[in-house]
This record gives sequence, structure tokens and C-alpha cells, in this order.
Amino acid sequence: MSEKKQASLLVQGYEVVIGFETHAQLATQSKIFSRAPTAFGAEPNTQACAVDLALPGTLPVMNRSAVELAIRLGLALGSHIAEQSVFARKNYFYPDLPKGYQISQFEIPVVQGGEVSFFLGDEKKTVRLVRAHLEEDAGKSLHEDFIGQSGIDLNRAGTPLLEIVTEPDIRSSAEAVAYAKELHKIVTWIGICDGNMQEGSFRCDANVSVRKPGAPLGTRREIKNLNSFKFMQQAIDYEVRWQIEQIEDGHAIQQATVLFDPDTGETRAMRTKEDAADYRYFPDPDLPPLVIARSWVDEVKAGMPELPRQMAERLVAEYGLPEYDATTLTQSPAMAAYFETAAQGSGQAKMASNWIMGEVSRRLNAEEKDMAQVPVSADTLAALLKRIADGTISNNAAKQVMDELWSGGQSGSLGGGVAHDATGDLVGQGAVLSAAARVDSVIEAKGLKQMNDAGALEKIVDEVMAANAENVAQFRAGKEKAFNALVGQVMKASKGKANPQQVNDVLRQKLG
Ligand code: ADP
Ligand code: MG
Repeated sequence: MSEKKQASLLVQGYEVVIGFETHAQLATQSKIFSRAPTAFGAEPNTQACAVDLALPGTLPVMNRSAVELAIRLGLALGSHIAEQSVFARKNYFYPDLPKGYQISQFEIPVVQGGEVSFFLGDEKKTVRLVRAHLEEDAGKSLHEDFIGQSGIDLNRAGTPLLEIVTEPDIRSSAEAVAYAKELHKIVTWIGICDGNMQEGSFRCDANVSVRKPGAPLGTRREIKNLNSFKFMQQAIDYEVRWQIEQIEDGHAIQQATVLFDPDTGETRAMRTKEDAADYRYFPDPDLPPLVIARSWVDEVKAGMPELPRQMAERLVAEYGLPEYDATTLTQSPAMAAYFETAAQGSGQAKMASNWIMGEVSRRLNAEEKDMAQVPVSADTLAALLKRIADGTISNNAAKQVMDELWSGGQSGSLGGGVAHDATGDLVGQGAVLSAAARVDSVIEAKGLKQMNDAGALEKIVDEVMAANAENVAQFRAGKEKAFNALVGQVMKASKGKANPQQVNDVLRQKLG
């Protein structure tokens, strides 16, 4: 990192140091050591079997698919996948933990090392991972204020988690959020976690400390359970200011676990932090070491998708896209696939990128939909872009066509929806319309074709010049702005159908 960059990251002369622990809930059907289902939102205690309830005499049985998802993460992040890892008991008392211990991995985790890279502006940042280990989730205490009682829901007990731990490599709240977003993108991309932060499927703990540059690491406080990117940034910013204030006032930081309160915007100590020794970790005698054959890793590797970063690099190389576009388009596999189909179908990669990042995303956001629900297929967008490229319609007219395709897609009347894609059929009307024919019929019906008749355009330009003598005079006197006014008038007179480039050319020529 350049010295300038380093200095710009200091807060009141202090360097911020952050390490992340992220709990990603693994997208398995059943729990990590039992057959009970993991689905979210069921009636309390309907998805907890004897193993999850810790009834005497029950034994845990490892869920193979949880291990496979851990292997996928290790492969995605360039980690070492341990041939042998060990489950350990982490002992503590809590009402939602009926066994009195959590099964986790301690000394030998399944995933070791690796890294996550991302861009912050145009600066590439790499955060090293320490490890990712498998563990089970605990249950939940439900506090029913209206009857003044608390209950325990053990549905979540035994849900598989992968805890992903970084080195203390992060240097600002902005880097922290960028790291968390990148990790979130990766785990959802490779299909190991649904990424639903409201439901707690992706929870981050941020370990935060500050120090004078060059000094040894300061004492950290751990902000627990950050489940939104917005709160993550606020919580870290508050915590950093608080720690600096304490130190400046001559107080030492006590290692502690803290919670962020979104209502006050403050972090508050929950308990002093336990050390590993407090948990009396020891290998779980109920579970043999987890042995992963090299051949299994190779098999999983063969089924791995192209990763977002690799794909972004390929989009830059193959389609000549700017880095920014490539990163934006690789937010999800659905968006990336949509782009590639539209770019290849139209032969207009940059235009496809602009339209997807602009018109398509804007409409999806307004309707709170994601790419999987886009009502205009990538083939249809490609057909539309072709009509802009060949001069049939202007970019503005294309937006009107898009409006029609978008709502038509929803009602099914124009068959632009994803459901119609496989065949391009106009379902329900017995007609067969290709994407191109569909686009052309909207252009036709709305009368949006650009005027390509040079004679007609010249006539309009003459009329506009005669009616706007003042602008003409101003332009001739050197006022470039007057030219734009004339272009606007001609576009208006042509009802937006004139080709703007052609209008420019004809006007310049006539103005001399
Ligand atoms: P524990 O298991 O007690 O939580 P770890 O050593 O596993 O402690 O570290 C937990 C996280 O805290 C890791 O992400 C690590 O990078 C981070 N961390 C450790 N020391 C510091 C520090 N001084 N400042 C900020 N983060 C730290
Ligand atoms: Mg830890």
C-alpha cells in the first residue's frame, strides 16, 4: 500500500485493525448431525429431533453434504482442505444449548488458509483467511413480553454453520463492508449459503482495535451479529471513535463482546470476552476425525462454477468491458448470464452492459425484484439493442419499447417473460413470435421508428431554422449552446423520430 493511501486511512492518527468472523449457514436440507429439516420459519420445536434436543443416548452422525459445501468454499478461496479434521466440544451453559456444549472444530479445522480479494474503488485489496470450520448452531430464546415469559425454540439447534475467520487484515469500515459483500457474493454464487441476512443465514462478527501506526496490535472488542451492511459500517465507525476517545482519555481498552444498537447507533458491552481456555475444548468422543479423500475434493472441484472474480476478468478480456461494469455484472450468476446472452445476441456488449446496469436494474429495484424475476428475457433485450444499433430507433425510443415489453411481459400479452423464453412462443395467443418480431411489433405499434428519410428531415430543419432565427444568429455569433437548442427543436418537431446524429450533421451543414 502506498504511504499516501496508508495515511488517508488513519482516523485521528490511529490505524484501525479489523478481523472478521462470519457464520454462513450452509444450505443443506437437514441438520449437521441429525436428519431434522433446516427450513426457516416453522412452528417452534417442530424441527428438532432427539439429537437436536440432546436426549440421552443419542449420537451425532455427520451430514456428508455439509462437508461438501465446506470443500466448495475451500476450493473457491484457494484454501487447504484438511485430509483430516477434528470435531471438538466447546463447553458453555446457555438455555438454548441443551447439550451444554456446541460441537465445533478447534485445533484442526476442515478449511485452512486462503484469501478473499476485492476492489475498493480501483485499489485491489486481499484479506487472508485463517480458517473456516464446521459447527452446529444453537437454538433461540423467545421472549414473549405480553405474557412475561420466555421460551426456547430448538428448530435452529444443529443447523450447519461454516465459521469463516480472517487475519486482522482489514483497515477501515469501508474495507470491512467490501470484504463482507465479497464473501457474501462468493458463498451465494457457489451455492453453499442462501445469504439471507434478515433470517440470519449470514452473520458477521467484527473484531475491532486501534493502534498508533507501527505499534503492536491493540486490544480488540468484538461486535457481534452484524446482519446488515449498513449497520456494519455504522457499528464499526462508532466503535472506532469510542476506542480512540477512551485511549485519548487515558483508559485502557478491555477485551469485550459488544452489541450494536441500531436505534441509538451505539455499541454496548454485553460481557467480558471469554478466552479459549474458558470453553474447555476437547475432541468430541462421539465423532471420529473427519477424513476427506483427495478423490472427493477432485470430484467437487470438477463441479465448481466459474467464480465471480475470474468471470469479471473474462468479461473485461472477452467483451472489452471496463472493470467497473464487469464487477457490477458479476453480482450474481443470473445477472452475469443475462449479460452474456444479451451481449452475444446483439453483438453490442457495452450497450448491453449499460442497459442492464441502468434500465433493467432500475426497473427491478423499483419493483423489488431480482434478476431471476426479470420479465424481459435477455434475447428480447438483445433484439431491442440491435434495433438501436442499426438506427431503427433512438436510445430514448428504445426505453419506451422497454416499458411496453416490461409490462407486457408481466401480463403475458407480449410474451416477453422468462416463462416464454425456452421457445420464444407467445403463449396463450396461439401465435409464435420471436424476440425480434416481438420488439419490431412494439416499435411498429408505437410508431417509434426513426426518420431515416433525409428529404423529410431537411424540410424540418429548414422550418426550425426559420422559426428560431434568434438561435441561428446566436450560433453564428459563436454561441455553441444555441446549437443544442436547435437540435432540441428539430427533435421535438420530428416527435423524437429523427436520428440525433443525422440532425447534428444536417444542422451543421445548413448553418455553414
Ligand atoms: P477468538 O477465537 O478468541 O475469537 P481469534 O484469535 O480466533 O480469537 O480471533 C478472532 C478474530 O479476531 C480473527 O478474525 C482475528 O483476525 C481477529 N483479531 C485478533 N486480534 C485482533 C486485534 N488485535 N484487532 C482486531 N482484530 C483482531
Ligand atoms: Mg473465534
